[in-house]
Amino acid sequence: MSEPLQGRSIDPADEAQLLSTIDRWVEREVKPIAKEFDHADRYPTETVEQMKHLGLFGATISPEYGGLGLPAGTYAKIVMRISQDWMAVTGIFNSHLMLALAIEKFGTPEQKSAWLPRLATGEIRGGLALTEPDAGTDLQGIRMTARRDGNGYVLNGTKTWISNGIEGSCFALLVKTDPDAQPRHKGMSLFIAPKQEGFRVGRKLEKLGYKSIDSGELIFEDYRLPADNLIGGVEGQGFYQATGGLALGPDQRGRPRRRHRRGSAATRRRLRPGPQDVRQTDLRASGDPAQARRHGHPGARRRLLTLDAATKFDSGERCDMEAGMAKLFATESALENSIESLRIHGGYGYSKEYDIERLYRDAPLLCIGEGTNEMQRIIIAKQLIKQGGIA
Ligand SMILES: Cc1cc2nc3c(=O)[nH]c(=O)nc-3n(C[C@H](O)[C@H](O)[C@H](O)COP(=O)(O)OP(=O)(O)OC[C@H]3O[C@@H](n4cnc5c(N)ncnc54)[C@H](O)[C@@H]3O)c2cc1C
Repeated sequence: MSEPLQGRSIDPADEAQLLSTIDRWVEREVKPIAKEFDHADRYPTETVEQMKHLGLFGATISPEYGGLGLPAGTYAKIVMRISQDWMAVTGIFNSHLMLALAIEKFGTPEQKSAWLPRLATGEIRGGLALTEPDAGTDLQGIRMTARRDGNGYVLNGTKTWISNGIEGSCFALLVKTDPDAQPRHKGMSLFIAPKQEGFRVGRKLEKLGYKSIDSGELIFEDYRLPADNLIGGVEGQGFYQATGGLALGPDQRGRPRRRHRRGSAATRRRLRPGPQDVRQTDLRASGDPAQARRHGHPGARRRLLTLDAATKFDSGERCDMEAGMAKLFATESALENSIESLRIHGGYGYSKEYDIERLYRDAPLLCIGEGTNEMQRIIIAKQLIKQGGIA
């Protein structure tokens, strides 16, 4: 069976039609409400219903499970279109699709048929729960445990900063099944964790930007799961499943690659072209088409980096370095550009009446989330050295 997401293609006419539908929806439904919802930090319930209707919660899930089965390149273009007007809303389906991908790529046949159809329709929505209060970049330092108990597991611990944590109902949950294992990743496992007794939201986390999508602290106290919820049914694969494996496609040996947290976890997520589109919106918001055109050229290059990484991903090639480069370049540019834009617009840039201040608040997250930019630099450097690109 082919790897989920990889080796896919789409007829150009179908892609154009899909993107035009997305454009129309963004123009009519997303753009008009973005500022108001962001300022109120209000969850866009109606937008989520529309996203269900558009099939976005199943965008990358295979058609056999009810999804659209889109290639990464098309998916990246969709996120690009939406991010131009409201970046935060893309996190609602993007985090969700990471959960779906973990199940589709590593789950047992029973897990796939039990969960994927309901994830594809958006009936169940969720995300990826990896980060803990004391373990972000160094994921192998997590403390949450799952202790075997009869036919199931008892889980205890806390996760933090989990996107969709409050509104979502199911998460891919990274835990230690063997806290003493050495190397540490060998004791880590990934579970499908629906909200039920023993699983509660601690609190909603307040943020500088990236508003409206909920970021939650999740608390697990004697939370019981059947062994059927262990993704793939084998302990000790969780680190690989939650990081390298989710992004890079086939590692025939099934071994975790030697890489720091999310060094690749986010490869697919890094195909999200949000940052360069924050940049583009920024320029459009300047109301000066000539200036937008002039500055638009480097923006186009950033897009090419993203689409190049997506194309590699679709062809089944390893692309963590390319995706890391696209992420690093685009997000640093987005941050720099949001500050410049604020300066260029003077008082108007600082005003809540315009979008510049929102872009200025949203941009820093791009350098932190989905593998910090410091980690991207390390990954890129290691790959370049390995490939003999640096003497
Ligand atoms: C809005 C938001 C949404 C998020 N959504 C999710 C989610 O859905 N699921 C989830 O699991 N997590 C999520 N996160 C958590 C996010 O992935 C982490 O914040 C991120 O991985 C960084 O971890 P940390 O915050 O613990 O910082 P740390 O790991 O403590 O890093 C602090 C600084 O040290 C640097 N650093 C750390 N280690 C090294 C190293 N070895 N070499 C060089 N520099 C290093 C980092 O680059 C960073 O600059 C989210 C975070 C935010 C803010």
